[in-house]
Amino acid sequence: MSKLCAHRRPDHHVDGETCRYASELKPGDQINVLNGVLVRVLQADPIEDAEDWIAVLLDGSVDGPTPLARDSILPVRPADGLRPDEMPAPDRDVEVRATVEVTEEVVYEATLTLTVPASVTVDDAALLAHLDAHWSDYNDVIEGGAGTVTDQNLSDARIVQRKDATS
Ligand SMILES: [Zn+2]
Repeated sequence: MSKLCAHRRPDHHVDGETCRYASELKPGDQINVLNGVLVRVLQADPIEDAEDWIAVLLDGSVDGPTPLARDSILPVRPADGLRPDEMPAPDRDVEVRATVEVTEEVVYEATLTLTVPASVTVDDAALLAHLDAHWSDYNDVIEGGAGTVTDQNLSDARIVQRKDATS
């Protein structure tokens, strides 16, 4: 990118635009005068007896050439394109360390051996009600990485086999 540029972000330039000294202006160049409004340079001539200034005639100007200090920095879309040193820096890959949050819902079915009060084994509904109310008590029974799912919701329970814990 041009060393001249005082714009803080690359996207402060429209495509094909760069910052140049007024002394570099040539006929056909377009100056970005206001928020992307481009005005074409018709003539750019030295001013006699004022070597730090040039006279720039802009397309549409009704009162003749405008004097500009030669070292004024202007956003310009050059008629003959950008020089290699004015090309925007290519976007490159960088490494970034970021914290991401992933939300997932996992539904799985498992057959577990649980120790429960005998009274809740009268039917599936009673077992479900009991497990739902005490699910955190059974965390260590669940194996295989299910612990990484933080938002567990018990939706079903079925009795496969009943066996007294004491027997
Ligand atoms: Zn700039």
